[in-house]
Amino acid sequence: MIDHRRLGRELDLFVSDPLAGAGLPIWLPAGAAARHAVEEYVRELERRSGHQHVYSPPLGKRELFELSGHLGYFADDMFPPMRLSADDEVVLRPALCPHHALVFRARGRSYRELPLRIAELGGMYRSERSGVLGGLSRVRAISLNDAHTFCAPDQVGAEVVEILRLIRAAHAALGVRPAGFRLSVRGPAGRYVGDDAQWSYAENLLRGALDGVEYVEVPGEAAFYGPKIDIQIVDAAGRESTISTIQLDFDKPERFDLSYTDSDGSRRRPVMVHRSLVGSMERLFAYLIEVHEGAFPAWYAPVQLALLPVGDEQAGAAAELARRALDAGLRVEVDVAGSLGARVRDAARRRIPYLGVLGSREVADGRLALRLRGGRALDPMPVADVLALISGQVAARAADLLPPG
Ligand SMILES: [Zn+2]
Repeated sequence: MIDHRRLGRELDLFVSDPLAGAGLPIWLPAGAAARHAVEEYVRELERRSGHQHVYSPPLGKRELFELSGHLGYFADDMFPPMRLSADDEVVLRPALCPHHALVFRARGRSYRELPLRIAELGGMYRSERSGVLGGLSRVRAISLNDAHTFCAPDQVGAEVVEILRLIRAAHAALGVRPAGFRLSVRGPAGRYVGDDAQWSYAENLLRGALDGVEYVEVPGEAAFYGPKIDIQIVDAAGRESTISTIQLDFDKPERFDLSYTDSDGSRRRPVMVHRSLVGSMERLFAYLIEVHEGAFPAWYAPVQLALLPVGDEQAGAAAELARRALDAGLRVEVDVAGSLGARVRDAARRRIPYLGVLGSREVADGRLALRLRGGRALDPMPVADVLALISGQVAARAADLLPPG
C-alpha cells in the first residue's frame, strides 16, 4: 500500500527521529526543497489576491490566549504553559489568530483598508496524543498556511467566494483532489460563543457562498466561535481529513475589541474570516506524497533535472550545463557514480522528472538527450531548448512534463 512514511524515507524527504520526539518530524533537504517551492507558490498566489504577509512568534503570553478564548475552550489541545516567574507565563500557540488580531489592532483602521487580509505561514503547536501521531499527517509542531481577513459585515460573502476561488486554484496547481466540501454548523451539544442571530446569519452566508457547490452540512462540527466550510481529502489508507478551511468568527473581534472607522465616522466591529488554502505543510505533504506516489509535478520536484555524463570525458560539460540550469532557476544535480544504467534506475527510483544524458556526440553538437520520468526518451535537442522547455513547464506549474501539443 502507498504510505507517505515509507515514501518519505525512500525519497529522503523527512525523518522522524525518536530523539527529536514523536510528532516532530525533520524535513530533509529534498523535502525542504519541495516545500519551499510550494510555499513560494502559495505566497505568490496570496500576494496577487491582496494578502499582506506578516511574521509573528509561535509562542506568546498566557494572557493573550486567555483573551482569545483558546485557554478557555481549547486548553486540552494545547501544551501546558511555561512558567518563567510568578506573573509571567508563556504558551506555545495553538493558532495564529490572536497574533493577527494584534496586527489589526496595531493602529487605527479605516473602512478604506477593508477587507484587510493578513497572511502568514506560521508555526503552531498541538499536544496530540502520542498514539495518533505518524509521519507528517498528524504532528505536534504545525506549519500552517494561514490568513485572517478583517472585513465589514457586508463584505463577508464576496470574500468567502474569492477564498473558494483561491482554494480551487491551489488545489489544481498542486494536484489535490478534494473528496468533498463540508459545511460545519452548530450542534445541540456544543459550547459556542455568540448569539443565535449571529450564528444563523453566518451559517446562511456560508450556504450562499456554496451555491452551486455540492456539499454536506454537518451539525455539531462548527468551531466554538463560528461556522466553517471544510474541504476534505482522503489519504491512501482511506482516512478523511481537512485540507482547506474557511471559518467565520464574530467572537474574536469582540474579545480583542477590534474596530474600524466607517465612512460616516462611526466605530464599527469588523468580522474576522480565518482561512487556510492548503492547510499545514505537514498534512499537505503527507497527502501530496501519497497522491503523486512521490512523483511530484516538476515545479516542486526536489531535483528537477539530473545530468548523467556517459563517461568521464563528459563530466566537464555536465558541470557547465548544471551551472546554466542553476542560473535558469532550476534544481539540478550531476550524477557520475556507477554505470549509466544504474544511474538511470536511481533517478527513476527518486522520481526525478527530467534526465539529461550527455554522450560524446551530444557534447560535440551542444545537444542534450532528454528522458522523461516514466521512461520516454526524446530526440537530442539544443541545450538552450531543453532548459527553456523545463523552465517553461516549471513556470507554468504544469502537471505534465511536456507542453501540450
Ligand atoms: Zn485563525
